[in-house]
Amino acid sequence: MKKGHLIMISGPSGVGKGTVRKILFDQYQEELDLVFSISKTTRDRRPGEVDGVDYHYVSDQDFEASIKDNDFLEYAGYVGHYYGTPLSFINDHIAQGHNVVLEIEVQGGMQVIEKRPDVISFFILPPSIEELKNRLIHRGTEDIEVINNRLKKAEEELTYAQYYTYNVVNVDREACAEEIKNILKTVL
Ligand code: 5GP
Repeated sequence: MKKGHLIMISGPSGVGKGTVRKILFDQYQEELDLVFSISKTTRDRRPGEVDGVDYHYVSDQDFEASIKDNDFLEYAGYVGHYYGTPLSFINDHIAQGHNVVLEIEVQGGMQVIEKRPDVISFFILPPSIEELKNRLIHRGTEDIEVINNRLKKAEEELTYAQYYTYNVVNVDREACAEEIKNILKTVL
């Protein structure tokens, strides 16, 4: 059986990668045979999220046991919580011929690029830093100090864009998802 591919969508906080990933799945999941890699996280579940669909919500102890057992392809600490990509899920689904999509932040993304040079990686860029600031403000979930810290972090994260296979600018989320779909159609 033909093996599937490992696909990664990453980019700075607030760039809209979660939304773009959801559009990609809503519209092109079947066409591209995509499977979402459900991460483990130690953060609390938000209203509307479903355990085992959006994330596997686990305790610090559970997460640390997975680190010890080498169960993660990558993991990272992000705003006070752990996030990690379970390795066996990815390997099993790729072996079955599916294309597995990771949607993760940049620190973990760089680990994936080092460990899996075959990854098809997309770095989503904001149209400008100003626009990123607007998006973080309009999301309305953080105060201005947190937003400024995230912006500083985002500027540093943007320097990693060069290591990704493709850079895609998110001017319009539907168009951004379509651009990723078009690239995937030519390389899968
Ligand atoms: P949120 O808490 O808003 O769902 O996610 C916070 C950040 O963690 C987002 O940038 C998201 O892409 C990233 N993230 C989600 N899962 C993982 C993972 O398994 N590993 C890493 N490194 N980042 C992740």
